[in-house]
Amino acid sequence: MSKGNKSKIDNLGRVVIPKSIRKALGIEQNDEISMYVEDNKLIISKGFKSCSLCGNTEVNYQLNDKLLCKSCVEGIKGL
Ligand SMILES: [Zn+2]
Repeated sequence: MSKGNKSKIDNLGRVVIPKSIRKALGIEQNDEISMYVEDNKLIISKGFKSCSLCGNTEVNYQLNDKLLCKSCVEGIKGL
């Protein structure tokens, strides 16, 4: 993975995803991407990340290939 890409954030908070990265991830115009913070880093991924149980977009846990939010995990713990 290339680490040499630099972008500046404009006054509206927008950033351009370099073409080489879009190409590598198969991201095209009008594709939906999701952004989240993990280990103090901004992660941008293709598609939408949401809890497998309730659809909450604030995902805190991953179990195998399932993503889970905090409230569902708390709920499971209480079973
Ligand atoms: Zn959930």
